[in-house]
Amino acid sequence: MTDLRESSVPAVVDGLPQRRRLVTEIPGPRSRELHARKLAAVADGVGTTLPVYIERAGGGVLVDVDGNSMIDLGSGIAVVNVGNANPRVAARVSEQVQRFTHTCFMVTPYAGYVEVCEALARLTPGDHAKKSALFNSGAEAVENAVKIARVATGRDAVVVFDHAYHGRTNLTMAMTAKSMPYKHGFGPFAGEVYRAPMSYPFREPAPVSGVEAARRAISVIDKQVGADEVACVVIEPIQGEGGFVVPAPGFLPTIAQWCSENGIVFVADEIQTGFGRTGSVFACEHEGVVPDLITVAKGIAGGLPLAAVTGRAELMDAVHVGGLGGTYGGNPVACAAALASIESLEQDGLAGRAAAIGETMLARLAELAAKHPKIGDVRGRGAMVAIELVTPGTTDPDPAEAARISAACHQQGVLTLTCGTFGNVLRFLPPLVIEDALLAEALDVLETAVAGQ
Ligand SMILES: *Cc1c(COP(=O)(O)O)cnc(C)c1O
Repeated sequence: MTDLRESSVPAVVDGLPQRRRLVTEIPGPRSRELHARKLAAVADGVGTTLPVYIERAGGGVLVDVDGNSMIDLGSGIAVVNVGNANPRVAARVSEQVQRFTHTCFMVTPYAGYVEVCEALARLTPGDHAKKSALFNSGAEAVENAVKIARVATGRDAVVVFDHAYHGRTNLTMAMTAKSMPYKHGFGPFAGEVYRAPMSYPFREPAPVSGVEAARRAISVIDKQVGADEVACVVIEPIQGEGGFVVPAPGFLPTIAQWCSENGIVFVADEIQTGFGRTGSVFACEHEGVVPDLITVAKGIAGGLPLAAVTGRAELMDAVHVGGLGGTYGGNPVACAAALASIESLEQDGLAGRAAAIGETMLARLAELAAKHPKIGDVRGRGAMVAIELVTPGTTDPDPAEAARISAACHQQGVLTLTCGTFGNVLRFLPPLVIEDALLAEALDVLETAVAGQ
């Protein structure tokens, strides 16, 4: 077998060799030293997937303080779609930092905020009149989408789905499905949040079409909430933390159609799926769904904290002056980063790149699944793909095996993440600028890890 610990001819991206190269055990001594300090100074509630401390990153690699160069299949949880320290982002951010760092947009505005809102109007699905408001985090965007929908409809109820993840603030905890670790002990939660059944093809006891799954969900909402009580339905077009669940075709359009017939605001939470990740700029586009409101964050600004709600102008304008905002929302440095990221997304053809990454990965993972019955399902779209680990011959989740494979990848210098309601999903979110050779090598490492016991 070839030496899996070092690539032969590394390409160089932004001055950083694109290679996997381990020079110490993982984590190395300097990371371990920093981690001891982390454990003493940082609250235990803030967990760590892999305690290697990063010094530099770019293209498809993360370089740690011990000099280990790892392949990044996480993108900081679908954030650095355009790559870490993307040169366009770095240049615009440093330029902005030198001009001014903050005025508060609600006090004295600046052009960058307006330009980001203009770009969002252009990039999001639908050719209706659109407006946006900017925030700091995904959870804050989701909270504000609910505020807007409630004012615009005069209704209270919010409908979300099984396996949903919408954030960690009080309202978004209520909207998130999974108790441990996101909600456990943190109640009481916000009221008027109702949960409907999702379309999760791998876990249906018998095949259910997308339209049938949508009717099942609509019936639950109708009977248990009442359509005329519902302000909004909030849904991830492909679920993220919940397990990279891709609903059956027809599910999203049927729900969206029903919302429009019943005066319900259809909110697509594209915080994880947005900005090229799934092979189109937004995941809703794959089924021609046009949301009333869309929430974005993660991939919008190349790693700087920024989020937005974009939607129909008449809904966005329903809120009274002063009703939306926040001290830092649409910070000028984050806006500069967003404009540079959007430029990179469009000029470097990154959505197309995501589609190509998806083809490569899904083909390799399907081969792997054919060899290993513990891989129950391979799914995803673009550079957002996953495998679900089960007891062979059943759909019983095997979270221990997902954790074992992920840890084995980490030991070999490939950063992977797990997710899912049952913790048995291994997910892959490479930066869209990853080199083909590096991606292929990461998949070789994964293959060896899956074959291990
Ligand atoms: C990450 C995520 C959120 C929360 O975003 P934060 O920036 O962590 O608050 C909300 N919805 C989805 C779909 C996400 O993936």
